[in-house]
Formats: sequence, C-alpha cells, structure tokens
Amino acid sequence: MDWNTTFVEWLERFSVVYGILTLRYIIIAGLAFLIVWKILSRRLEHKYIQPDRRPTGKNILHEIKYSFMTFFVFGLVGVFMFEATRNGWTRIYRDVGDFGWPYFFVSLLGTILLHDAYFYWTHRLMHWKKIFKHVHLVHHRSTNPTPWAAFSFHPLEAIIEAGIVPLVAFLYPIHAGALLLFLFYMTSLNVLGHLGYELFPSGFTRNRSTLWHNTSTHHNMHHKYFNCNYGLYFNWWDRFMKTNHPEYHEQFESKAAATSSNNAHAKDRKEISSPDIATL
Ligand SMILES: [Zn+2]
Ligand SMILES: [Zn+2]
Repeated sequence: MDWNTTFVEWLERFSVVYGILTLRYIIIAGLAFLIVWKILSRRLEHKYIQPDRRPTGKNILHEIKYSFMTFFVFGLVGVFMFEATRNGWTRIYRDVGDFGWPYFFVSLLGTILLHDAYFYWTHRLMHWKKIFKHVHLVHHRSTNPTPWAAFSFHPLEAIIEAGIVPLVAFLYPIHAGALLLFLFYMTSLNVLGHLGYELFPSGFTRNRSTLWHNTSTHHNMHHKYFNCNYGLYFNWWDRFMKTNHPEYHEQFESKAAATSSNNAHAKDRKEISSPDIATL
C-alpha cells in the first residue's frame, strides 16, 4: 500500500465514490419513483401490489436515510478497492484484450450468478432470529417498500452486501467495465424488486422461458410476509430450497393479469395477514 497517501487524498476519493453511489441511487430509484409512483400512479393503480398498505412519508424518509448510511459503508469499501487495485492486489483488469470479449461476458454472467447465490444465503443468514432484530430488521421496516428501499440497510448489513465486490475482485479476473455493468444491473434489479407495482406480463412466472426470473411481486411478498421469497435475481434458489410463498403465482397473476376495469374486484381478494413487526 502507498502509505504516503495523505488523509486528504483518501477523503477526496471517498467523496467521489460516495457522490457516484448517491447519484446512481437518486437517478435509478428516483426515476422509478417519479415515473411509476408519481406520473403513472393513477394509470397503474391496478398493478399496485399492496393497495391496503400505503407507505407514509416517514417510511420513505427511513428508506432514504438508511440508504445514505449504506453508501457511507459502500464508499469505504470502494476506496479500499481502489487502493487495492492500484497496488495490484485485486484481479480487476483494464485491457479487454487480456482475456478477450467472450471472457468479458462470461465473467459478467458468472458474477451475476455468484451474487444471486451470495445474496440468497447471506439473506437466509440475516433472517436467523438471533441476528434478524439487530441487523436485517432495518430493511424490513418497509412492509410495503418503495424504490427508495433498495439500499435501506443497517450498516452491518451494508458490509455484508458490499462483500460481493471484494469477493469477486480477489477471486477471478474481472474487467473494470464488467464490474461497473454488474453494479448497474444489480441496482436496477434491486429497484425493480422494491418497485411496489407489478409490470411483468401475465404468465411470466409459469412460462418456461421466463419462470426462472424473479418479479416485483416476489420481493414485495418477502417484505409483506418476511419468511419466504429470499432470492434476488432468479427464482431457482427459492424453488430448490422450497422457500417460495405458496401463493406466489396466484398473487403475481392477480396483478399481472389485472386491468384497470377489474381493479375493484382485485381489492376484494383474500389477504393473508403479515407478521406484526413489533413482535419480531
Ligand atoms: Zn429479508
Ligand atoms: Zn427488500
């Protein structure tokens, strides 16, 4: 490590990384919120997953406050990664020609698959009763999340979530651009999971070519019921571990197949009560 690096230089780098992280959040989560929750909210009312439980301004402030705290942790990890890469400790490379384009895309796909497994199992761990209250409950304060909840984590959870980046960077060669694409994909899908509206078409969770992919309903149900639907991008870990909610397909279809005219009927659907957050 370059021990001559001054504190001011570290602070400058941290500020840049923190700025990029918050900008990424504000643009992706903010656009989703502005377009879906504000501009199109009336037109998409029949796609709104939990019409009986509207988040308050206080709920949204909680999501934003903890997301900004998360970026503090992510910023520190980012500065460490920058320094580690500069010193040749990581396997991040800059010249695509080193491994070629096929490897660029294989490593990107591999990173998404690895993160999907990493997320599922660390998420299951955080639902372990002894640590849930102290770590993951912050994220579950949003029982009907908005896109702003995408990074609403306790600082300890933020460390776990950030862990995927050093894990990848120290494990196998990855191009800096592939890593950035992965982080962009992760943020977008994370926002989709917290969208609160189901925009995928009817049949998506039953069709052979799409059933392996998760939906907004899938993660929204995780926030509503707590003890099901732990997966991130793909549905296979929940299928394999039998942790999909038994009514996942039914609840997905109730929104995916809904039209603005049958919205009233949708409201009469049977609702399963979710756990009382105070008793957890
Ligand atoms: Zn959870
Ligand atoms: Zn969530």
